[in-house]
Amino acid sequence: MNDTCSNCDAEISDGGFLKTPNRRYSARQVSFVNFVTDASYPDLCEKCGDAEYRGAVIGTKAQREECRQYVQDHIVDFPMMTISQVPPGARCRIKSMVTANVTVGTGFFNELSQGFSDMFGATNVATGMAFKVNSGEATARSVLVEKAIAMGANCVIGVDIDYGTTNNNAATVNMQGTAVVIENLENILSDDVLERFRVFEEKRGRVQEISRWLAGDFEGVAVPDVETV
Ligand SMILES: [Zn+2]
Repeated sequence: MNDTCSNCDAEISDGGFLKTPNRRYSARQVSFVNFVTDASYPDLCEKCGDAEYRGAVIGTKAQREECRQYVQDHIVDFPMMTISQVPPGARCRIKSMVTANVTVGTGFFNELSQGFSDMFGATNVATGMAFKVNSGEATARSVLVEKAIAMGANCVIGVDIDYGTTNNNAATVNMQGTAVVIENLENILSDDVLERFRVFEEKRGRVQEISRWLAGDFEGVAVPDVETV
């Protein structure tokens, strides 16, 4: 008796001299498709399941990329404050100091004199020192946020920024702060800031969740062979 796919009835075969192979998707790959697309295929083979399986993997990867991009574009939504003491009533636990040192380009002294022309648009905005310093700040900020998140913090307080120059005439942005966990952020952040952070956290969580799925961990089941497309 031939082994057939119970979804499409096609014969399952490793192929042969004149026979095109039609292999069966593993039970774990089928569960992945069912999980992602909310379907309930009993079985899938290369003939009937290719589009579904690739679609499921590509779709989840695209979604992860979209969320990752959102997080990258919304680093400023992670709460950072210059205040060194949290407001009364905040339940705060300290994690650790976080620092970022970013070199933003050479020619600092040369370009310092261009500061005024920057304001009047005489200097190319994309290469001018103001632009470099701004992107240096943004980079430093991302570094701080990344470090804070890695520690499990949800806020950085006491943020301080210094600007410096190096011996070889490059400008530096040094940013530091204290990563903390504030259990009742809702009591100290304004509603709009809190909402933006909530979305930021949701997207970040989604990236991690999808990565777990793709690594084969969904519905609490370990599925090591999912990511094979
Ligand atoms: Zn099939």
